[in-house]
Amino acid sequence: MEITIKKIDTPKSHPDESNLGFGTFFTDHMFCMDYTKGIGWHDARIEPYGPFPVSPATMVLHYGQTIFEGLKVYKKEDGSAQLFRPRDNFARLNRSADALCIPNIDIEEAMQGLEALLEMDKEWIPSAPGTSLYVRPFIIAMDPYIGLKSSPIHRLMIILSPVGAYYPEGFNPVKIWVSPEHVRAVRGGLGEAKTAANYAASLYATEIAQSEGYTQVLWLDGVERKYIEEVGSMNIFFVIDNEIVTPKLNGSILAGITRDSVLKLARHQGKEVIERRISIDEVFTAHEEGRLQEVFGSGTAAVISPVGMIKFGDREITVGDGNAGPISSGLFKDLMDIQFGRSEDPMEWIVPVK
Ligand SMILES: *Cc1c(COP(=O)(O)O)cnc(C)c1O
Repeated sequence: MEITIKKIDTPKSHPDESNLGFGTFFTDHMFCMDYTKGIGWHDARIEPYGPFPVSPATMVLHYGQTIFEGLKVYKKEDGSAQLFRPRDNFARLNRSADALCIPNIDIEEAMQGLEALLEMDKEWIPSAPGTSLYVRPFIIAMDPYIGLKSSPIHRLMIILSPVGAYYPEGFNPVKIWVSPEHVRAVRGGLGEAKTAANYAASLYATEIAQSEGYTQVLWLDGVERKYIEEVGSMNIFFVIDNEIVTPKLNGSILAGITRDSVLKLARHQGKEVIERRISIDEVFTAHEEGRLQEVFGSGTAAVISPVGMIKFGDREITVGDGNAGPISSGLFKDLMDIQFGRSEDPMEWIVPVK
């Protein structure tokens, strides 16, 4: 694939690495490629990062035909950089594409685009402890047309954002709130896809949770409102009777790459891990009987996010002693060590950045 390159005239100054936050700074360049029905993907290019003109009729603005991914580039102590399972992200982008009638991309072409972009913006990969370069690939429906149909024109873009350490004040547990009313997704809907609609649908309940003093919503299944699905935009794990349990993928749960990495790494370490349905009642019963040891979320942004409290109706429980437990802390460290190249990569997850 040929990539046309247009460099920025005046490179931007880099932000302070001790104050990056998440998703507010962007690098000098972006990768773009267009799709036209009958032609396929074409015009791969790297251009200066910045706004681009869209018609007010552009389909994505009205009907939400769009998908995205999120992954990170990690700087090693020797100054080289590496990606974690990037092809799994592009493969998932294609699964999301199928759900939204968006054309698939060629995974190797997307990798080539990402690698060329990283080559140009590698100075932007931060090196302060815990920081990384977040990669956001996305596809948007670009046809300027306000009738409802699947767009014949799409654009793939990849933008890069240097991000801070997720736990600047330590690995602190969050408080989560079970919504009695709102659902994120249902089987047969879009829950398995990383698409705008699911996040728009989660905002209202998240605001209620936050106004009640909780950080995230614990989502139950949309049909019986009984079985646990996800927490915020993370997958969720429980440690009950020394066994690690996570909800089995069912069509409305997003198949997280961190989730899969936790499952594989824990099994590699000889731990018991089970994927099955788990109800909120079972979790509260396990807690009453003293068998609920740990709860944690998993996702690219935080890697592992320990849960300290769960509120459901008028009941609230503290998980363990309210602090991160040994299994969450151990998996957090082991995954981060692989991602930052501090330890062996027994699963061949790492792709070095050239
Ligand atoms: C992205 C995402 C996750 C986590 O996926 P990772 O690949 O581990 O980052 C979990 N749930 C939802 C709803 C998500 O959007």
